[in-house]
Amino acid sequence: MAEYSAFSLLKNALTGNKDWKPAWRKPDPKASYDVIVIGGGGHGLSTAYYLAKEHGITNVAVLEKGWLGSGNVGRNTTAVRSNYLLPANTRFYEHSMKLWENLSHDLNYNVMFSQRGCLNLAHTPGQFDDLARRGNAMRHLGVDAELMTTAEIARLVPAIDVSGSARFPIVGGLMQRRAGTARHDAVAWGYARGADRRGVDIVENCEVTGFLRDGDRITGVTTTRGEIRAKKVALAVAGSTGRVMQLAGIDHMPIESHVLQAFVSESLKPIIDTILTFGMGHFYISQSDKGGLVYGGDLDGYNSYAQRGSLPIVDEVMSEMLALFPGLARVRMLRSWGGVCDMSMDGSPIITTGPLPGMYLNCGWCYGGFKATPASGWCFAWTIAKDEPHEFNAPFMLDRFYRGLVIDDKGQGATPRLH
Ligand SMILES: Cc1cc2nc3c(=O)[nH]c(=O)nc-3n(C[C@H](O)[C@H](O)[C@H](O)COP(=O)(O)OP(=O)(O)OC[C@H]3O[C@@H](n4cnc5c(N)ncnc54)[C@H](O)[C@@H]3O)c2cc1C
Repeated sequence: MAEYSAFSLLKNALTGNKDWKPAWRKPDPKASYDVIVIGGGGHGLSTAYYLAKEHGITNVAVLEKGWLGSGNVGRNTTAVRSNYLLPANTRFYEHSMKLWENLSHDLNYNVMFSQRGCLNLAHTPGQFDDLARRGNAMRHLGVDAELMTTAEIARLVPAIDVSGSARFPIVGGLMQRRAGTARHDAVAWGYARGADRRGVDIVENCEVTGFLRDGDRITGVTTTRGEIRAKKVALAVAGSTGRVMQLAGIDHMPIESHVLQAFVSESLKPIIDTILTFGMGHFYISQSDKGGLVYGGDLDGYNSYAQRGSLPIVDEVMSEMLALFPGLARVRMLRSWGGVCDMSMDGSPIITTGPLPGMYLNCGWCYGGFKATPASGWCFAWTIAKDEPHEFNAPFMLDRFYRGLVIDDKGQGATPRLH
């Protein structure tokens, strides 16, 4: 498949744009593979890409029940950051950040990674101290973090209400300047193209309906397009983890599925040149390259597999936005949508061998898995190829729950909807 380059752009422009090839093939599934990856979201596709690129394992199929991008990889608000408190998370997400920083070149596909920063706001002195602590922890591990005063915040985002009479006055913030946004569809398409170019079969409209077994060992899957055998079967189905694990007879996962909504406004001239998070509730906002404000807030708060949300969260998110930006009161909201998030008990992901022989599991991304897409696939591919975790995902094995080694960055306890 041809490289994308200025030369190929020019050549195709001069020849009527007739020679562009599809970015990936549409193969029928083969009878068997070395590795099957279930789930053609960001994590499944990046896993297949790194299996091929880093480990030379190319006899791989990604099985996706719908079309690529129909899950959360195409539904998220595209925030990428590595501003965590606990070392295990910081190391993992910083590895992801470094992969993001070279991703467009690596994939030969423009994922539009824009390092416009992520600013967490503090509204009380205690909260500001807390941000300072997190910033110090990040800097200890070599990750950029910067405390900002209210005056600096006012210069960065003039539209924000920094007055003392604001409903929740701002006392400062923590900025990670290398954080940013990326075009989510492009990430899915770029990984798909990169995997396909290395020989991976990406099979859409192919739902896994059961597992083939030899005793406890997983030896393949049954699908809506027939039986497929494999030496190794890897799950990366995000919000569907509980349902797919049930097909393998495992119905007690440390995961709950919850709906998360997001919203986009009509296009405005540039007013917010960073990602902002509100400290007195759960609200965050950025502005897309098309000008739409992209924003969201909390989970709907009840377990669900529905890819749509309910009205109370709409009300809550809008009121939080107006507490920060009273001037946006008349901006029209264009669209809202929902995605099913795989919320883990400690708010941290699971990238593990097992729990059955021949099975590998990647899940627990809560509502922060988009930024993890590169490192998740990179570490999962390592784990599948070598049958052991890399040091970056060693703390994220499934056994941490019964060994008592949970990684609870927010200190919320075993309440998935609060992470
Ligand atoms: C509204 C919203 C906003 C978000 N905002 C952010 C953000 O700003 N930053 C961030 O880092 N994260 C964010 N996230 C979280 C992030 O999107 C997810 O954590 C991440 O996309 C999950 O991984 P994935 O891309 O592999 O999932 P998905 O894209 O959901 O992929 C899983 C795939 O598995 C497929 N599948 C399921 N069952 C089967 C089956 N039986 N057979 C075959 N295929 C199957 C599904 O069809 C799906 O395509 C957000 C999520 C939502 C919903």
